[in-house]
Order: sequence, then structure tokens, then C-alpha cells
Amino acid sequence: MSLATDKALHRRGPSLVRHDWTRREIHGLFDLPFPALIFRAQTVHREHFDPTEVQISTLLSIKTGGCPEDCAYCPQSARYDTGVQADKLMALETVVAEARAAKSAGASRFCMGAAWRSPKDRDLDSVCEMVEAVKGLGMQTCATLGMLAAPQARRLKQAGLDYYNHNLDTSPEFYGQIITTRVYRDRLETLEYVRDAGIHVCCGGIVGMGETREDRVGMVAALASLPEHPESVPINMLVRVVGTPLADEASLDPIEFVRTIAVARIAMPRSVVRLSAGREDMSEETQALCFLAGANSIFYGPKLLTTPNPGRDRDRELMEKLGLTAMEP
Ligand code: SF4
Repeated sequence: MSLATDKALHRRGPSLVRHDWTRREIHGLFDLPFPALIFRAQTVHREHFDPTEVQISTLLSIKTGGCPEDCAYCPQSARYDTGVQADKLMALETVVAEARAAKSAGASRFCMGAAWRSPKDRDLDSVCEMVEAVKGLGMQTCATLGMLAAPQARRLKQAGLDYYNHNLDTSPEFYGQIITTRVYRDRLETLEYVRDAGIHVCCGGIVGMGETREDRVGMVAALASLPEHPESVPINMLVRVVGTPLADEASLDPIEFVRTIAVARIAMPRSVVRLSAGREDMSEETQALCFLAGANSIFYGPKLLTTPNPGRDRDRELMEKLGLTAMEP
């Protein structure tokens, strides 16, 4: 896309929510000169959000490790020797205590993650109790439990679940190189069940897994052409964990990461774009550029499931430095 075309697009006025993005158009956004891309992303961001507000979520692993799936990036897969111990499902009281602590530290949403291919119905009973209890604290609730059947999605909705996280991870073409124990279609199916149950969708991906730019284009195009855009779009930078097949992957240029955030912002104007895993190794400057590119959510707290995340003090300092405040639920 040339700068002239970009200017022409601007003259059209407020950005429309579109579900018919072509890969060519998404490619054109990635190819824009960096200042033009950031300007466009900022413009779209300001049409729909206060650019000084950041939504804060906290993520807790309620069932860690021992997962039968083979996601090449994940230290919780039972197939890789990563030193992550398999635990049983966490007790309800522990989850509630963690949620209370997250709330007093400023989190408005509490996400509960379990390392399952899909939950068994009896496990779902326990998760539903957790959802009800966390909701009772006045927080938004989110869960990521693997693939769901339609009745399971409906049960979670009845328990008060606000969001379900289920990432598309990457482009449909690259997916098979990262995961072989399920297919893209499985992911889309769970997303459909979640939507049909009336639960908000949290769905994004991971970059830096050895994919090409075309795959990053394909990932954003897949997300932006869902029948409804996910309300939350987490964009993760791969955390290279020793023992996983991606441990020695070359690191992705941070500017390419910022470009991915900006393109996601433009393609999904009303979604909250979350700067997710990988922040621990990101400079403050890169994170600041991500916020300028339209990221408006972070995970807060020292741990993201099993990988490190910046401490709350570091985040508070950065937000203060940038004049950012926590978004009210
Ligand atoms: S990402 Fe989820 S499904 Fe994949 S191995 Fe890890 S815990 Fe299992």
C-alpha cells in the first residue's frame, strides 16, 4: 500500500469494523513505512479507546503441566522435558485468595488457565465453582481450558464466565509445524461454541516461532475474518523455554513485533489488543512503542502460567512513566 493510498483511506473517516480483510490488504499494512503504520494505528485506536487507558488482567495456572498436546512452544506439554511439574487442579480457596490479591493489585479480570486438551465434565464442575466465586468478588472472569464441547461452553456461561481464551496461535499453513495433535478447524469449532454460548472471545497468537511475515499476515487475517472479532486479542512474543522444540529459535526483531500489534489494531479496531507473553525480555522502549501501536491491555503479575512476567512494581513504574492508567471494567 502506498502512502498516497494510506492518505486516501484516512479521508474516509472513522474506521469501520470489517470482516472481509484480504491478505493483500493486511500485507500492505505490514509493508507501510513505520511512521505511517503507527499514525494509522494511533488514529484507529483513538477512535475507539482512550489511548491512556490499559486494561489489566491477571493470569493464574489452576492446573499446571502434564498436558497431552504437543504445542512446540509450551513448557506444559508432557512430551518435553522442561522441568515443569504436573500438578492437580488447584483448590477453590487458593484460587479465590489469588483472585482477591490480584484485585487489590489493580486487576479487573482474572484468567484461569488449565493445561488440558479439553476438560472432563467433572473438572468443569470445579472450574464452574471457581468462576462463580471469582465473579462474586466483582471481577471479570476468563478461562482457558482447551477445546470445549458446546454443552461445556453453555455450562461455563451459566456459571458466569465472561471470556474464554482460545488462541489461533499462527497462520493456518504454519499451524501443523507447531502443533500436530489438533487442527485449525478444531480451534475454530471451540470458538464457535464459545460465541454461541454468549461468552466473549479472547483469541490471538504467538509470533517469533520461526514463522514468516506471510504467516503473521495469515494469523491477523484469520483473526480479523472471524464472524465477530474477538473482544480481546492477545499478541504474544515467543518465550523460548529450554526443553521445548522452539528453545533455540532465533529472536524476532522487536520492530516486527510492534508492526504486528499495529496491524492487529487497525484490522480489529474495537478489540482490546493485549501485549501478552514475552514482556519480561522486552525493553521499556519496545513496550512503549507497542502502546503507541495500539496495544491497550497487559497481564499483570510476576508469572504467566509457568513463564516469568515483569513484576507489578516494574509495570506500575512503566505505566506511570508513560502516563497510562488502568481501564475500569
Ligand atoms: S499450549 Fe495448552 S494445549 Fe498446548 S501443550 Fe500447552 S497447555 Fe497443552
